[in-house]
Amino acid sequence: MDLFELETWLREKNSAQLEKLWRQADHVRAHSVGNAVHLRGLLEISNHCSRECQYCGIHVGRKDLERYRMTRPEIEQCIHQLVDFGYGTVVLQAGEDPGIIPSSIEDLVTWIKGNTYLAVTLSLGERPLEVLRRWKQAGADRYLLRIETTDQALLDSIHPGRPYGSRMDTLDRLSQLGYEVGSGIMVGIPGQTYEMVAKDIQWFKDMDLDMIGIGPFIPHKDTPLSDTLSRVTSKKEQVSGTETMVNKVIALSRIACPEANIPATTALASINTKFGREKALSHGANVVMPNVTPKVYRVLYDIYPGKACISETADVCHSCIKKRIRSIGREIGSGPGSRKKVISSNLN
Ligand code: SF4
Repeated sequence: MDLFELETWLREKNSAQLEKLWRQADHVRAHSVGNAVHLRGLLEISNHCSRECQYCGIHVGRKDLERYRMTRPEIEQCIHQLVDFGYGTVVLQAGEDPGIIPSSIEDLVTWIKGNTYLAVTLSLGERPLEVLRRWKQAGADRYLLRIETTDQALLDSIHPGRPYGSRMDTLDRLSQLGYEVGSGIMVGIPGQTYEMVAKDIQWFKDMDLDMIGIGPFIPHKDTPLSDTLSRVTSKKEQVSGTETMVNKVIALSRIACPEANIPATTALASINTKFGREKALSHGANVVMPNVTPKVYRVLYDIYPGKACISETADVCHSCIKKRIRSIGREIGSGPGSRKKVISSNLN
């Protein structure tokens, strides 16, 4: 699809037309990555962060938030639990926490790879090349680094002190180091236009991303972007952060990147607690990330308000998510659920 077609779909309001888009995305999903929904146990190991991202509830300027950093025994206990649940991947996530020293992650990854069959995904922000290399050599399989928007002016305005190029460079390095690379965007950022989102989808394809996370922008009252309206210059061009819009982006991303792993994000489940995940799974997604963070900490990982599954335990999330997946006729994936690249044969 070219830019014009992508933009046209993003503006589409006719439900019969949209039904065609949902069907096409679901067909591509079934044909390319199958019926299995892969479960990744999400462990939020620290809510410390040195960054000032204007939309994020755990940014460095948030002085009222109690901060935590999980201990190694706590992390190991959660990992044993997600192995018992039968998950194929652990996602170790944190803010850009300078208190997480590289060797502690190196040791942890080495321990996970030596004691479990789990694939390891890291989501620990922008890190120097040497650190990313050490973590890869320790056995880390994947790295998630959300770009949020590929529009340089918008990205710079919501990420003070973090130049556009540094995140792009880190994504390139991750790929060169042999990680499976994940990125993604928020939909509905104040100032974000249809054209920008269409370009983001083209960028997913150009980058040949292995994982693509797409969620709504949800304003947090304790962030500079709480006052969203002051940033919107053109209501006509402003993309909304509604569930339908996010699902359009998921569907178009699935069509553009058939083999990518695309999660039904917790943020989507937060704006439709009843069926948010099921809808995303029916519109192109094939991954769910149940939260295995201890209850006492997950409430403090306050990146946006109204986060789904905040007061449930890992056990409750586990059985709830399995039930939801089966209720729409899909099956639970087994193994790591890595991206399978279709290698086109070229005999020349
Ligand atoms: S988005 Fe990530 S890097 Fe930015 S403030 Fe939040 S946790 Fe930190």
